[in-house]
Amino acid sequence: MENFACPHCRKKTISIPKKLLVSPLITIYCPNCNAQLRTSWVPSLLALAPLYVGLVLSRLGFEIAQRMDWLLYLCGVVAAFFLYLFFVPLVTNVEPLKSAPESKTPG
Ligand SMILES: [Zn+2]
Repeated sequence: MENFACPHCRKKTISIPKKLLVSPLITIYCPNCNAQLRTSWVPSLLALAPLYVGLVLSRLGFEIAQRMDWLLYLCGVVAAFFLYLFFVPLVTNVEPLKSAPESKTPG
């Protein structure tokens, strides 16, 4: 599977384990441009919401949910894993590099 693109240099330098490690509190550095990368709070928390769906359903007393407690939780973990990987964008504090750098004229 391809790496994820750095929001600063646009190079695909962020591996899956690194993407899963990064959070609003834990920052990582792009190996290409050394930009500091993290995720925003709102998308990160939204991506983790499926973790709680199975738990809430079973605690609300749905009989089917109580019987399949572990399965609902496993589905929540898998859903949160994919949401976090593919829908939580990396952000950086520095401005993105322009794709075609302007040529500077001397003087
Ligand atoms: Zn980069």
